[in-house]
Amino acid sequence: MLAAACPPRRKKPPEAAWAFWPMPPDGRFVNLRRMRGLLALLLFALPAAPARAGDVGETLFYRGQAAAFSRDIVPAPGRVIFDTGLSDAPAEPYDAMLVQGVMPDAGVRLEAARPDAAGPDGEWRPLEIRRFDDGRFWGRLRFARASREPIRLRALDGGVSSGHVLEIYGIELFIAGSGPGAQTAAPPGPPVAISSGVYALVRRAEWGAAAATRPYSRHSPVKLTMHHTAGRLPADFAESVREMRFVQDYHIHGRGWIDVGYHFVISPDGHVFEGRPEGVLGAHVLNDNDGNVGISFMGNFHPPVSNHPSAAALEAFVALSRRVLGDYKIPVKALAAHRDRGDTSCPGDILYQRLPELKAALERPLLGLGAGSMDERDIPVQARPGRWAWD
Ligand SMILES: [Zn+2]
Repeated sequence: MLAAACPPRRKKPPEAAWAFWPMPPDGRFVNLRRMRGLLALLLFALPAAPARAGDVGETLFYRGQAAAFSRDIVPAPGRVIFDTGLSDAPAEPYDAMLVQGVMPDAGVRLEAARPDAAGPDGEWRPLEIRRFDDGRFWGRLRFARASREPIRLRALDGGVSSGHVLEIYGIELFIAGSGPGAQTAAPPGPPVAISSGVYALVRRAEWGAAAATRPYSRHSPVKLTMHHTAGRLPADFAESVREMRFVQDYHIHGRGWIDVGYHFVISPDGHVFEGRPEGVLGAHVLNDNDGNVGISFMGNFHPPVSNHPSAAALEAFVALSRRVLGDYKIPVKALAAHRDRGDTSCPGDILYQRLPELKAALERPLLGLGAGSMDERDIPVQARPGRWAWD
């Protein structure tokens, strides 16, 4: 889960409980398996609420996200291009909305409102949009007060030059918290060294990381957690670098965290991107970040997007995990998926099915590391067509 993130999961929910917005008649889900690279999805949303200083008080009451969808955009100057209609009432209160995806033409404007609310929350207001050169974007809107009122999202033509497809990878509703500075960060500790193992580490300077906005808090790693970004599945290394920058930007400026939430992010070609230093508190599991090292796979491995992890990414995960477990004397049983530690679908049904064999490989130090030891198995998945869904 944008970055995020990782959407909350409900066990065996009645279908209605998943509904967020009814699927608009002109909408369509994107099948990533057929349109790999075009669609993807996201939510790097880590339901993460650090337990101590650092990010405390900045965000964090995680709520959820709507499933990915796309819209054909036809120029209609000054007019509404699409409208989601009113959502169901979210399960929990929220005072912030984050939308992210791909906006090929910068002329699209996004607005949201809570039609049932009095005052400014009931009026259409523009999302603050942050758009990268490749069209990757996130948009944010803060509301005056927290509530569970249904929400409505629409797009307007603010100068679209031509027809194109707007992709929404994910939508999050959450409590934005009291903002930076609400808590005093712990003083910075000494530099934390990260040793590269047999995996290809892409250091922060190499992917163009922004500096953390405030000092980190140190912790002592005692466990590992596997995630997915619920975001774009990059097609190549250059796109992975851009996605990593996007995830960091989304976490810092969208979620309000001090840095990218994860300690490591793995790209489909098997590169390990350095996130936060592993010796400092991350932001990736709600109320369970102390001593917890977060490793995330780029992509969305859950329906309806249903990416499949590459062999290179799985092997990089094993190599990286082996090194971290060894350095800190952490038992393999202390490796878990995000969904094992909290209410979320992260890291997606498809990736989650691979966890037992990844742990088995880690239990056999001399096995499971070589090229070809992991395959790109085709795991059948069931999508939930026809509606937006809390994931
Ligand atoms: Zn997660």
